[in-house]
Amino acid sequence: MGCIEQKKSPATHDTGQDYNPYDVMEPRLPGKTPVERRNGKHVKANDIPPEGVYLPNNNILAPHMKSPDYVQLSNAAAITLGIMGGRMYRCECTRCLNLLLTYPEGCRANCAYCGLARHREAERDYADRNFIRVDWPAVPMADIVDIVAKDPENSPFHRMCISMITHPRSEQDTFTVLEQWTDRIDPAAIPVSILSNPTTMTRDDVQRTKDLGADIFTVALDAATPALFDRTRGKGVQSPHKWKKYWEIMLEARDIFGPQKFGAHIIVGMGETEYEVLNLVQELVDLGGHSHMFCFFPEQGSLMDHLPATPRDQWRRVQLARYLIDYRGVRVDQMKFDDEGRVVGYGIGDAELADVIDAGIAFRTSGCPGKFQDDISACDRPYGDSPPSNIASYPFQPDRKDIKKIRKQLDIPVSVEQ
Ligand code: SF4
Repeated sequence: MGCIEQKKSPATHDTGQDYNPYDVMEPRLPGKTPVERRNGKHVKANDIPPEGVYLPNNNILAPHMKSPDYVQLSNAAAITLGIMGGRMYRCECTRCLNLLLTYPEGCRANCAYCGLARHREAERDYADRNFIRVDWPAVPMADIVDIVAKDPENSPFHRMCISMITHPRSEQDTFTVLEQWTDRIDPAAIPVSILSNPTTMTRDDVQRTKDLGADIFTVALDAATPALFDRTRGKGVQSPHKWKKYWEIMLEARDIFGPQKFGAHIIVGMGETEYEVLNLVQELVDLGGHSHMFCFFPEQGSLMDHLPATPRDQWRRVQLARYLIDYRGVRVDQMKFDDEGRVVGYGIGDAELADVIDAGIAFRTSGCPGKFQDDISACDRPYGDSPPSNIASYPFQPDRKDIKKIRKQLDIPVSVEQ
């Protein structure tokens, strides 16, 4: 499946507002999983051996695959790697090889917005679950390394990223996957990022990823406030994560990896105000790190699939303000906010603001840098947070027509002098 053939968006209710308020963004409670479907029991009991690449298929029993021998990778990465056919709307390839650890038991957490969450074991084997809107084929790790090791210098990939999940083997297998990679591929040619799962990690684990050659360490904070975190990733949905533990590991990463080499993922539009999320962005910058942002999209099958995607107005305001804080030295206290916490002033002059908007980089996917320039992410996650028909994060350089649309969404028309 190519990246233009997407999961249908589930029906959501329209709030009629230009932002997603906290009260509306309440996740559903997870249902009970029948005993025979828990922990990938039937996949393990049937023990069907995998044969090469496994393409997600909910109509068959998933083979018994697990990391570190197997990893899952995004559709975009599989197409770029040449192990899957398909095409991506307005993109030739992705610059980041995103790898995801995989086990029949799947992720043991239950995050409300996530397609990989534990409650889904009731209806879908782990390897068949959609995640950030796309399927994730499972591939032998050795095959991936063989392909990339042939010519790392000229690889389309500017970066590789290992995404951990909540599983007792997650740390050990991350080390093994990382070692498999750095044994054959010079991390100077293709640097490695770790998207960590702090819940099961210690400082020594963070240090070990650094010692094994990782370049950047990020924490998927996802929720922008402690209350939202608890509601979407903690007690609110019978999930084990704690805000405090996530911060503890992020600060260890800051210490071990150093400035500009750590950061946090944040999802915008789950009920936080624009002021709250931009304060968090500022806090990360003040600590020496970066924020990588996603626009909330109601992932099919998740506990939030009935809720509205983030309105484009809210998303564009936050994207623009985050870029100014992260890359242009503007501080959140220079910006102006209304009573609902919405951005009404960006803290710089109109001409400079117009230049930033027209340059378009602020509206591209954010993430760890590639080889083009510091503010252009290697990780372009094509259509991970929106359908191509209404792009949230641009996985390519927006053109004039795109910028016109973005300006309309921002409600900042081109001035007459321009
Ligand atoms: S820990 Fe990560 S993979 Fe697991 S449910 Fe939460 S967001 Fe999804």
